[in-house]
Amino acid sequence: QKAEWEKLVHAETITADGKHLELAANIGTPKDLEGVIKNGGEGVGLYRTEFLYMDASDFPSEEDQFNAYKAVLEGMAGKPVVVRTMDIGGDKELPYLKLPHEMNPFLGYRAIRISLAEDGMFRTQLRALLRASAYGNLRIMFPMIATLQDFRSAKAIFDEEKAKLIAEGVNVSDDIQVGIMIEIPAAAVLADRFAKEVDFFSIGTNDLIQYTMAADRMNERVSYLYQPYNPSILRLIKNVIDAAHAEGKWAGMCGEMAGDQTAVPLLMGLGLDEFSMSATSILRTRSLMKRLDTTKMAELAEKAVTECDTAEEVVALVEEYTAE
Ligand code: PEP
Ligand code: MG
Repeated sequence: QKAEWEKLVHAETITADGKHLELAANIGTPKDLEGVIKNGGEGVGLYRTEFLYMDASDFPSEEDQFNAYKAVLEGMAGKPVVVRTMDIGGDKELPYLKLPHEMNPFLGYRAIRISLAEDGMFRTQLRALLRASAYGNLRIMFPMIATLQDFRSAKAIFDEEKAKLIAEGVNVSDDIQVGIMIEIPAAAVLADRFAKEVDFFSIGTNDLIQYTMAADRMNERVSYLYQPYNPSILRLIKNVIDAAHAEGKWAGMCGEMAGDQTAVPLLMGLGLDEFSMSATSILRTRSLMKRLDTTKMAELAEKAVTECDTAEEVVALVEEYTAE
């Protein structure tokens, strides 16, 4: 099996019926690129920039950030790199950013909510990204977007910093896609409205599942409710993908579910365009996709979404449709 996977390192991801899908990797630091290249990643689908902040004793400077982003863009040599603006809060703390104790940190002050309030730190990050954009194929996404106003505010700050840099004579790519993570049910439900304004969606199932099922992703006692295959989750994902496509935009996924071997047939059937996962899952997933036919998986997904009551029924259906 390992030998079969090895052969796929330099191959494109092509399904049994000849459709190309994009298999990208999630990374936390520029050092992770080595694994992405070794495993044949077709891009970076999620660069979690909060590690730049968490591994330091103070806010990283614009220069430090610029160097990290440039290294990743150059390392990927023109392949797409989706950089997520910092997602601090929830379970991720910053010792030098004093946040008040909260009853429900996952429902509190985190990610884009901090960026919009601490606007100086957000502008520094965006400037570093804009300057790095000259060195590769940069895409930017905002985490934890709940409302269109969140997106519009973040995008307006991005546009302002971009205009300033251009006025200063700095070389900035004029082709930076700006998208959002879909990880809050409100955004998943309203995806048709978001799709008119964003360049892409990346579905963050790690959070989307916990918020939809009201089951903390870290809490063992309610882990039985953390159900990626629950038909409610599949319907939300379908809504997001369909909304993107209706506006000619692409939809990816960067939560754990994107590399899950039971979920992949369903996601292929729902029409997901980009799958971003830990680098070590890429070759296994490429090998699986090679064996699956998208038309047949579309039939599977349609049945799962319209006829299943439970996650168990969905899993049984996937087994039926993927049996050799
Ligand atoms: C997600 O929520 O699915 C996601 C990719 O983001 P994180 O796991 O960093 O919250
Ligand atoms: Mg998340």
